[in-house]
Amino acid sequence: SRPIIAIVGRPNVGKSTIFNRIIGDRLAIVEDKPGITRDRIYGTGEWNGRAFSIVDTGGIEIDGEDEIMKSVRMQAELAIEEADVIIFMVDAKTGLTHADDEVAQMLLRSRKPIVVAVNKVDNFSRQDDVYEFYSLGFGDPVPISGSHGIGIGDLLDAAVERL
Ligand code: GDP
Ligand code: MG
Repeated sequence: SRPIIAIVGRPNVGKSTIFNRIIGDRLAIVEDKPGITRDRIYGTGEWNGRAFSIVDTGGIEIDGEDEIMKSVRMQAELAIEEADVIIFMVDAKTGLTHADDEVAQMLLRSRKPIVVAVNKVDNFSRQDDVYEFYSLGFGDPVPISGSHGIGIGDLLDAAVERL
């Protein structure tokens, strides 16, 4: 079966925007499994001749700082379990947050291949915003813009290379 790429990160960083750009109209119908969170959407994609499944996480709106972090943590754990490569998405506009650091610690411990995608780098003048994300410890962060469709190919290059 296809290798799995999962997208994780805080709410509002742009995970679903990127997911939709990657899958186009290839949304996968996945039956609910008891005991598994339904807060995940599966699609399929293909890049550089490699077919993969891709998972968007955290689609259910939740209120409250604690509840949000609980959900982000759970999605990161599930991604670590099931994914072959994890896209860890952060937001150039808000910069690095405590929640990002917490997710990064989980991902570092997992030893899974991680690609950091810095979203909302909407134009060239924001390129410098990516530098602080080197401190996460996953190597070169990939600047992207979901709303402008910038950098998606570079992100897929980096992810598929590690499958
Ligand atoms: P998710 O919660 O991580 O799935 O994030 P969404 O994909 O729902 O996006 C959250 C918000 O960020 C929405 O208002 C998007 O329109 C916006 N957004 C997504 N990508 C970009 C981007 O590249 N640049 C900017 N400026 N906004 C974006
Ligand atoms: Mg979403």
